[in-house]
Amino acid sequence: MASEIEQLHFLLIPLMSQSHIIPLTDFAKLIARRGIVVSLITTPLNAARYRSIIDDAMEENLNIQMISMNFPCQEAGLPEGCENMDTLTSPELVNKFFLACELLQTPLEKLIGELEPKPDCMISSNALPWTQEVAHKFKIPRYIFETISCFTLLCSHKISKILQDSALVSNSESFLVSGIPHKIEFTKSQLPETIREASDNHKGLVDKILQAKGSAQGSLVNSFQDLEPWYVEEYKKLVMKNLWCIGPVSLSNKKASIDEHPCIMWLDSMKPRSVIYVCFGSLCRISFEQLKEIGLGLEASSFPFIWIIRGQDSSVEIEKWLAEDEFEERVKGRGLVIRGWAPQVLILSHPSIGGFLTHCGWNSTLEGVCAGVPMITWPMFAEQFYNEKFIVHVLRIGVRIGVEQSGGFVEGDQVKRAIELLMDKGEGEGNERRMRALKLGEMAKESIEEGGSSYLNISMLIQDVIQVNSNN
Ligand code: UDP
Repeated sequence: MASEIEQLHFLLIPLMSQSHIIPLTDFAKLIARRGIVVSLITTPLNAARYRSIIDDAMEENLNIQMISMNFPCQEAGLPEGCENMDTLTSPELVNKFFLACELLQTPLEKLIGELEPKPDCMISSNALPWTQEVAHKFKIPRYIFETISCFTLLCSHKISKILQDSALVSNSESFLVSGIPHKIEFTKSQLPETIREASDNHKGLVDKILQAKGSAQGSLVNSFQDLEPWYVEEYKKLVMKNLWCIGPVSLSNKKASIDEHPCIMWLDSMKPRSVIYVCFGSLCRISFEQLKEIGLGLEASSFPFIWIIRGQDSSVEIEKWLAEDEFEERVKGRGLVIRGWAPQVLILSHPSIGGFLTHCGWNSTLEGVCAGVPMITWPMFAEQFYNEKFIVHVLRIGVRIGVEQSGGFVEGDQVKRAIELLMDKGEGEGNERRMRALKLGEMAKESIEEGGSSYLNISMLIQDVIQVNSNN
């Protein structure tokens, strides 16, 4: 098999969003370590952003190349430079962004035609259904890369059916997801727009995704078997296809690449498991009023913290409040505010981190699981309410901040109470939550190590690619 693997060439195509590029790049490292040649499609601005990851891979002598394709901003009516979903400022731009992705089809076909060696398979984001046609054209198998859990995949399927059968469910009325082993309730207003409102724009894309799923060779899920065994098995039965959990891919990061970052030195000076890390991912937009409440809650809680304020949320008002109104001065020594992009995986894996206040994006959720820390869940949009329910009711390693629907406002006092509950060092529920989280962190690491379930699943994927190509 070794010689067969040496010749294999995998083509990876992420949706240009942090929550797809980061895990697919991590996955690229995992498969390249098995001796596979990997080509990762990106765009000029994204290539510049992720250069350091590839440089790390080069140091390890991994055979990964990034191929940059021009992103057709102008043709799709996007402002120049909108090459990543985190640069989009309005819902109209989201539609144009997906159009720009579709316009990549012809140039991608040209590129594949010229690629040497010819790719043996394509692994692309679920949100890029048109890549299925490209794979078909070149007679190579396509595997879908899922950036959500099997719990969410299965529950979404069941909920779509519930909504079809009972169109009358009002936005605030809660309903039970039946036929699963946990008591999971939703309201319609907690569901992603794509399920809640079958608007023409969304419906088109959702239908295409479903169709492409039907013809794909298989699916890869960034999750691991022991995290959600029942949901993995049930979802497999539902799709009746090759479905392999191959994560958590963030554990592919062997070395701390930014260990010089000042926050790591700051964390070194803190007590073990004492710091709460606060970050809301790459896409959420948080108003000044809401940021202020978060700050007041952190200040009142008396626990040390690292709080990330992303570029899209920075404003004159918040800067004034942080500096001139002396928030940063008041929490000096106990709290660290980081503006912009933070090395999240590195921070979470530091032994001083004791809790994670998260917006429940799936990557952040898994990264919290890998770090073995309990979480405060504050879902904001998309499938984040599914992840909250998974963290709190299935894994039982989380405390809810208490939002009932997308965009729900949270007072500073709620933030303070949730932190105190989560960081409680007593012998009761808080301790059990922490123990469960630690155990899951260990299980996550085992799954990716040689002989672990995700490691073996990657071997199955490689075997499948060999098999399909030998039949072609
Ligand atoms: N992330 C990071 N630094 C930041 C913010 C986010 O490294 O300052 C990473 C985070 O570790 C995760 C990804 O960005 O891998 C965000 O993905 P997620 O699915 O959690 O949320 P989304 O950004 O899609 O809402």
